[in-house]
Amino acid sequence: MPILYTLKSEVLEANKSLEKFGLVNFTWGNVSGIDRDEGIIVIKPSGIPYSELKVDQMVVMDLEGNVIEGDYKPSSDTPSHLALYREFKNIGGVCHSHSLWATSFAQAKRGIPVLGTTHSDHFRGEVPCSRPFRDEEITGDYEENTGRLILETFADRDENDIPAVLVAAHGPFTWGKDAMDAVQNARVLEFVAEAAYRTTLLNRDVKQINPLLIEKHFLRKHGKDAYYGQVK
Ligand SMILES: [Zn+2]
Repeated sequence: MPILYTLKSEVLEANKSLEKFGLVNFTWGNVSGIDRDEGIIVIKPSGIPYSELKVDQMVVMDLEGNVIEGDYKPSSDTPSHLALYREFKNIGGVCHSHSLWATSFAQAKRGIPVLGTTHSDHFRGEVPCSRPFRDEEITGDYEENTGRLILETFADRDENDIPAVLVAAHGPFTWGKDAMDAVQNARVLEFVAEAAYRTTLLNRDVKQINPLLIEKHFLRKHGKDAYYGQVK
């Protein structure tokens, strides 16, 4: 099976899974994947319902945003995805949604603090919220500027440690080793956002957990000394 067909199928399935996992209403989300060797990305076409999506509707582009293959307009958020692929060299997939709990934190302009080990199993610290947009960033190349804003938010953070961000007043972006991994991180993000909200309701004075516990749980699952799960 050609690589491109495989990538298109993966990105199609990842987009369809957004609805299955309850991360989107209507067409409020998009997933992309990249083939680093070929320098091409595949992304959802704009505005087509997930249930109607077909593999040959996926849009194939280069990293400069030129459409290489496909008859449809790519997702309007494509420039944000491209900005992440250009700077975050290890990532293979990007997911954007307006999932309810993560979007609630984004609208509150609050990062999601580490209140438990479910969070630190996946994110090595607070999931940050960007600063608000400036006027000229909204009136200019808005989607490109969304990508820039995410990169600015990660200027002193490691995208490999925290594969998620909240764009203030907008919603979450997540990334991962491929398209489906980016969706999985969006699912975990949604869980930890809801759990953080509920935890704060139960105890308004709750603090971020012990940094040692954050490190312990993150490093059990990530990096060279990871030991969680079965040896492959
Ligand atoms: Zn959006």
